[in-house]
Amino acid sequence: MRVKLSINYPFAELNIGNASVIKRESGWVEAEETKELIEAIKDGYIEHEGNIDSILDSNPEDKGSKENIKKKEGKEVWIFIETSKNAISRVSLELLGRGRELADKLGVKLAAILLTDKDNYSKDIISYGADRVYVIEDMLLENYDTAAYAKAITYAINKYNPDIVLYGATHIGRDLAPRVARRLDTGLTADCTGLDITDKCELLQTRPAFGGNLMAQILCKKRPQMSTVRPGVMHILPQDSKRKGEIVRVDVNLSAKDFKTKIKEKLKSAKKVVNLEEAEIIVSGGRGLGTKENFDKLIPALALLLGAEIGASRAAVDSGWVDKTHQVGQTGKTVRPKVYIACGISGAIQHRAGMQSSDLIIAINKDPTAEIFKVADYGFVADVNDFVESLLNELK
Ligand SMILES: Cc1cc2nc3c(=O)[nH]c(=O)nc-3n(C[C@H](O)[C@H](O)[C@H](O)COP(=O)(O)OP(=O)(O)OC[C@H]3O[C@@H](n4cnc5c(N)ncnc54)[C@H](O)[C@@H]3O)c2cc1C
Repeated sequence: MRVKLSINYPFAELNIGNASVIKRESGWVEAEETKELIEAIKDGYIEHEGNIDSILDSNPEDKGSKENIKKKEGKEVWIFIETSKNAISRVSLELLGRGRELADKLGVKLAAILLTDKDNYSKDIISYGADRVYVIEDMLLENYDTAAYAKAITYAINKYNPDIVLYGATHIGRDLAPRVARRLDTGLTADCTGLDITDKCELLQTRPAFGGNLMAQILCKKRPQMSTVRPGVMHILPQDSKRKGEIVRVDVNLSAKDFKTKIKEKLKSAKKVVNLEEAEIIVSGGRGLGTKENFDKLIPALALLLGAEIGASRAAVDSGWVDKTHQVGQTGKTVRPKVYIACGISGAIQHRAGMQSSDLIIAINKDPTAEIFKVADYGFVADVNDFVESLLNELK
């Protein structure tokens, strides 16, 4: 009997005991049964097609050594590291935290891929959970450039063949990951809010679908499996500066003509940067406040007193009360502060999707049946304007 297999390794590396590999057709090979082969299938190292019950029940003679089966050892979980102002971005640290758990479930290494003009980051990356850091260091990589980054990462992925590659769903991640996916001819799940590993060692990617009314679970047939992941969703591991890891320098032949953009000048945005994803306290206002005047009078004042950032529901944003950069929710930011105060917000599923992982949720709403109370730790049924006004007076 012969069994049709999908082998993740190049044909030349395939060596399963003494099993003879007969032919290869676009990633599939046919191989004769051996005990090693059957064990490899059972262990999930090799995928198969068709009914293999009869060969799993059979007891073929042992023809070779199990050591010869090239296991998934090289199939790492990779995190694309973003840096800004000489620091690793928070979403990259969050991905290292979740990536660690995924790699442990798979029994593989967690690696980071870092592109930089000067590597001041590798030790920190290891201290946040990575076993290995692939560093592409080049003076030319001072600023992000779509084409050059896509070229360098595609090169590294082709060379080291990771099983999973995760990017933050940031401006850079959203720009870069689809281009890399196209070059590798693999899939990409954008804007994931959950990641797990299935019984078959696949990456289970969860993301909101159909206007947030459904959480879709997505598997990718091709390799590597790639996702962008929303900032603020995953937990950062405590830093452990004693952790040991390996730093691998990767040489990519980059030249000036790989860079398609030139930065002539960097201008600071006139707008105040809203850092909701990193805020410890958020005071968020919704349509229940009634008017822009009420929003402006109460929400910034309470935020100032508490040292908080200002958040908002989409209804408040759409009413023109506050800039879109303050919007929390499915089409806004995903936040995970220590305290989230929802003022006059109904708690629609699209809003909850962005804030329900907050440590402590306090809600003020005049309707006792409002959805927000389902996720609130403390709920106050009250007129929000009176309530916040009294609270401000108390705090002052
Ligand atoms: C594809 C899609 C994406 C979306 N993305 C987002 C998103 O990212 N973020 C988001 O927030 N929404 C999003 N929405 C919109 C979402 O469905 C809701 O419409 C929105 O969150 C409602 O905002 P709100 O709670 O401020 O307003 P409302 O739903 O109108 O709720 C106002 C609440 O205030 C209470 N209230 C009224 N007056 C008072 C008062 N005087 N005192 C106390 N309470 C009072 C009411 O009881 C009510 O519960 C999205 C919708 C879609 C379809």
